[in-house]
Amino acid sequence: SPSLIWFRKDLRLTDNPALQAALNSKSPVICLFILDDRIDGSLPMGGASAWWLHHSLAALDTALRDRGGKLILRRGAALPILEDICRRADVGAVYWNRCYDPAAIDRDTAIKKALSEAGVVVESFNGSLLREPWEVKTKTGGAYSVFTPFWKASCALGEPDRPTPAPETLPGYSGDLDAETLESWSLVPTRPDWAGGLRETWQPGENGARARFDAFLDKDIAGYGERRNRPDWDRTSRLSPHLAFGELSVREIWHAALGHARFVLDGEESGAWSFLREVGWRDFNHNLLFHNPDMPTVNFHRKFDAFPWREDEDGFQAWCRGRTGYPLVDAGMRELWHTGFMHNRVRMVAASFLIKHLLVDWRRGEAWFRDTLVDADLANNVCNWQWVAGCGADAAPYFRIFNPTGQAEKFDPDQAYIRRWVPELAHGGEDYPAPIVDHRMARQRALDAYADIKGAV
Ligand code: FAD
Repeated sequence: SPSLIWFRKDLRLTDNPALQAALNSKSPVICLFILDDRIDGSLPMGGASAWWLHHSLAALDTALRDRGGKLILRRGAALPILEDICRRADVGAVYWNRCYDPAAIDRDTAIKKALSEAGVVVESFNGSLLREPWEVKTKTGGAYSVFTPFWKASCALGEPDRPTPAPETLPGYSGDLDAETLESWSLVPTRPDWAGGLRETWQPGENGARARFDAFLDKDIAGYGERRNRPDWDRTSRLSPHLAFGELSVREIWHAALGHARFVLDGEESGAWSFLREVGWRDFNHNLLFHNPDMPTVNFHRKFDAFPWREDEDGFQAWCRGRTGYPLVDAGMRELWHTGFMHNRVRMVAASFLIKHLLVDWRRGEAWFRDTLVDADLANNVCNWQWVAGCGADAAPYFRIFNPTGQAEKFDPDQAYIRRWVPELAHGGEDYPAPIVDHRMARQRALDAYADIKGAV
């Protein structure tokens, strides 16, 4: 009887342990993707992610067809779909790579139980993290909530397994199965067509991921440590959306980055290590979400529950549209709207502005980012928002309030990034808005609000 691989956030053929297991079973392989609209748990998928998913699935289907397989698409709740296919095709075994967000864990646990009871072998694997959340433990067996000791303990576990190559052929399943089409899902809007900037910027899918990674290894990894904070230089890897959809394996990234470092001289090795440390933050955030499943909606530090957030609809709208009158914030928000991406330094400044200058609840910013980022990822988005707000684990201290003008002078000294995204400033700035809030006043207001909740505990 055939085996089934259920693709989820692992839309690749290289180093895909679930796919490898299906192939090892020596049976015909059914390749399935289910559009379960709640794939990210309680929080819905955003528009930019939907665009990416459409193209990534198309790329995966092409890669499978080149090897003798094809991707079956179905939409709806996963359990009845899997039960239906297992029954109709007499499937003997189902394989998938694990997801770590709370709703997916609950869903997968129920599916594993139901299918096993029906006599189907079910096996799951680690296809997306360097180390799974339960592998990295403190001396007393607990979970880490501070990054540096987490990363030290993670690295001390040794190198992750070496990646396995993509299969050259695939024993496709020839029976008839109901399938839907990408077009019928309408993940990509045609009217209005807001995806032009995304098309110009990205190539979703495993080939696009690999091309970007190769270019980064060739050109930018060596100086990454010194250059990563400069949005005007744009020298980070831009692998985040590829990682969010599992188009590239982190184990492959690990071995390729260090392999590369071993061939280059001295200081350049530190580029690879500081890059891998950032990849480590991704593991850390998944670890945090796994051990604190209510983090998508609840402050990690509960004293922030008493924080006096403001209802500032005008301010929020100005922020979303890049019209706050603070050029670095506006440049970032416009880059986000146009390309589905924002440089990390600018994400920190823009998020801090919404939270601290406008006192708007971080959850509203998280939702806007989730809708507009191509790399929107529940663990990374939520944990970073909580980090900026000061209510998260190992967070930036609340009282450290970024001055958006000072940040621009430091990290975009020639205003190259700002002029690119806020062209009216390059042309004299007459139609550019005045600041919607005064920095000194806003800073003091934020400190007072913080003092209030400090007093409340
Ligand atoms: P590089 O600098 O090349 O780093 C390599 C990889 O490491 C990234 O692709 C990413 O997977 C990981 N990484 C880097 N920085 C972080 C970090 N701070 N936290 C976790 N992982 C990291 N990243 C997302 O992937 N999805 C999100 O939804 C997301 N939301 C964010 C929201 C806010 C408010 C902030 C401040 C940051 C957020 N980040 C998010 C983290 C970070 O900004 C992006 O991962 C990074 O900018 C992606 O660019 P890059 O691939 O060029 O990164």
